[in-house]
Amino acid sequence: MEITERIESRVRSYCHSFPAVFDKAEGCFMYDTQGREYVDFFSGAGALNYGHNPPHMKEKLLEYIERNGLTHSLDMVSTAKERLLGQFSSTILEPRGLEYKIQFPGPTGTNAVEAALKLARKITGRKKIISFTNAFHGMSLGSLSVTGNAFKRNGAGIPLMLSDTMPFCGYFGEELDTIDYMERFLSDTGSGVDLAAAVIVESVQAEGGINVAAFDWLQRLAELCRRHGMLLIFDEIQVGCGRTGPFFSFEPAGLEPDIVCLSKSISGYGLPMALTLIKPAWDQWEPGEHNGTFRGHNLAFITAAEALTYWKSDRFTEEIQKKGKAVHRRLQEIADQYSRVFQPPRGRGMIQGLPCSQAGLAKKITRTAFDRGLIMETAGPEDNVLKFMPPLIIDEETLTRGLEIAVESIEEVVGRAAPSSNTVALGSAAERRETI
Ligand code: PLP
Repeated sequence: MEITERIESRVRSYCHSFPAVFDKAEGCFMYDTQGREYVDFFSGAGALNYGHNPPHMKEKLLEYIERNGLTHSLDMVSTAKERLLGQFSSTILEPRGLEYKIQFPGPTGTNAVEAALKLARKITGRKKIISFTNAFHGMSLGSLSVTGNAFKRNGAGIPLMLSDTMPFCGYFGEELDTIDYMERFLSDTGSGVDLAAAVIVESVQAEGGINVAAFDWLQRLAELCRRHGMLLIFDEIQVGCGRTGPFFSFEPAGLEPDIVCLSKSISGYGLPMALTLIKPAWDQWEPGEHNGTFRGHNLAFITAAEALTYWKSDRFTEEIQKKGKAVHRRLQEIADQYSRVFQPPRGRGMIQGLPCSQAGLAKKITRTAFDRGLIMETAGPEDNVLKFMPPLIIDEETLTRGLEIAVESIEEVVGRAAPSSNTVALGSAAERRETI
């Protein structure tokens, strides 16, 4: 810790939420140098949907390293990449009737977004991109220009241009339909809003506060894009790879976006990797027009291909949905019990949020949870939403254990912070277990 304090930049942040020196991790658990065990309800911000060091991926990785398999290859053809492309095509695209060209844009989520924005501008010749209130798409300049959060945007140090923000689903409450609102702006030549090259959207805004877009809202957004010649970009970086249940979060809406950004859990193992999926007609790049050194991370390709075995049937989706419902039910009980402190939970599948009505409370709760052995984060522009994002492979017992730590932390903090608020106990551990 001392060397970190002394020479690592002040820019770090998660280490303040989780002040320990971590050493090992397995499945749904992380361990610090004191040997303390933490239940992980954070999943590496969505990069560890299959847990830490999944044994079957580790085995494939070790075998590959042992035989001196190629590690770095830019965009040269490698056996590891060909296997991954084959698996992605046969396991993910073909069964869903989806047709995409696959671009390796660079190792991180923001690389996938930058490639998508650049390509949409090239295809349409238009300059603007439309994004949504509370969106988060990454920290490089193009991605920041379509991100809502003022603190992150200010970090750019220059004006962020060529994007227009529109209200996300439900932004003004139920009264105002935000697709109608957008339609009015786009069809009125006096509105001052230019037709954009693309609209970029998350079906569930994760960093933005677990804001869920209704499926019919997404369908109408797709129609609006078609009507106005704007490409539809789905940012699946945090809520793709099964986080909401199906592999792609847009599947239940029956959509086929023009461009899809994937990263985080696509490698399955926490290794950096990203993909930009492009409808074949839009694959209009010239060779080398969007380049980068680290687009051929073969170790990630090995684990990514192995991770796709989870998706050979619908079973995994069903399990995720079942667990997600159990988490939601438990959070609803908490919200009912502490109705002056929490709003109703929201989320889809295994990304669930519990919004706090009191400023600063969510951070106190996650800090208390950490002290009690649970890693979980907050979301939203004011950090006011408790974010529940366990690994998708979590077993019932660990899920219950993590939820109970969260409940105990809420009891401790809410009892302390607001003695006048409802602090009724939340039921016995045995009763709680029944909800999972
Ligand atoms: N898009 C979404 C929806 C994200 O949640 C994130 C990161 O949290 C990004 C893009 C950026 O990904 P990265 O941090 O890997 O650049």
